Amino acid sequence: MLSFGQPAYRARQVYGWLYRHLARDFAEMSDLPEALRRTLAREATLGAGGVLAESVAADGLTRKLLIRLADGEAIETVLMCYPEEGGDEPRRSVCVSSQVGCPVGCAFCATGRSGLVRQLSAGEIVGQVLQFARELQAQGNERPVTNVVFMGQGEPLLNWPAVQKAVETLNSPQGFNLGARHVTISTAGVVPGIEDLAGWPLQVGLAVSLHAPDDALRNQLVPLNRRYPIEALLRACRSYFASTGRRVTFEYALIEGLNDETRQARLLADRLAGLTCHVNLIPLNATPDCALRPSSRGRVLAFQQQLLEIGVPCTVRAARGADIDAACGQLRRRVAQRES
Ligand code: SAH
Ligand code: SF4
Repeated sequence: MLSFGQPAYRARQVYGWLYRHLARDFAEMSDLPEALRRTLAREATLGAGGVLAESVAADGLTRKLLIRLADGEAIETVLMCYPEEGGDEPRRSVCVSSQVGCPVGCAFCATGRSGLVRQLSAGEIVGQVLQFARELQAQGNERPVTNVVFMGQGEPLLNWPAVQKAVETLNSPQGFNLGARHVTISTAGVVPGIEDLAGWPLQVGLAVSLHAPDDALRNQLVPLNRRYPIEALLRACRSYFASTGRRVTFEYALIEGLNDETRQARLLADRLAGLTCHVNLIPLNATPDCALRPSSRGRVLAFQQQLLEIGVPCTVRAARGADIDAACGQLRRRVAQRES
């Protein structure tokens, strides 16, 4: 505001319009001088951009948008609504992307196949949340978005400065006021990034995409494992728990014939012994151009049973939105292929 020749208090006004009132247009900012509103409209944008494609799951509770960025790139953002349950407030989670593409290249992931196209800015990350928040607020929800999870496209801990700034912005009590405890960062296992998270004053949740109980298999599935093997990764998770007191979630996508034997569940339990954690089993989302298949329901339940018997807390994630290209990167690839 100072650079526009405005008094500093204008910044507070604009900030409130952006993150409290969730303005869609500078014209709505009724307590700003009109000339300033026009300058802002010329010099700045208010959000992520246009919607290129949308898909809604049959249950109507999961919606995915393909958002066009200013330079023509596209990213996916998903809204997942969980109706009120047993007195709990209804949850409305936005799953955001942190990069266009991803450099990690996991064997089962549609995003990884593109490689890294570019980093997202903090504004582009926050813009994804605002895109849904504005709409939910217009429908009369007082707290439009209750949770944000970094489980869209990209590896958030390889774009840490922008992710950090985005979380700080969403967390600000003068603005969007989303509690840090309602934010979860999912990582393929960037050890220095987990160490940064452990020391960060904002206590966000940590989810680690583990997917294999031994290094030989994990090297194949999550190539980053060659740089940060399981032992080093679990050491970082222990230090995260020691400094935050928050249990770590391990994601484990069950893939037919690869990582779904009960012997592997026992090995996994061994490795996680002594770590306060929770395992989230996800039957693989099959993607085109990839031969890997999901484990059968029976295998999933047997794997879960084995972990539970040993005392490892473990749930099977309900497959949400399998009908809307829900696995990260699928909608983007499908639209890109249609256009090429
Ligand atoms: N890059 C981060 C966050 C984005 S991916 C990470 O890897 O954790 C979010 C989650 O989706 C990760 O757990 C990832 O392993 C999982 N995932 C990716 N493709 C999948 C697929 N085809 N089926 C099931 N889970 C998948
Ligand atoms: Fe990247 Fe995560 Fe996909 Fe792996 S699973 S390629 S880390 S987005």
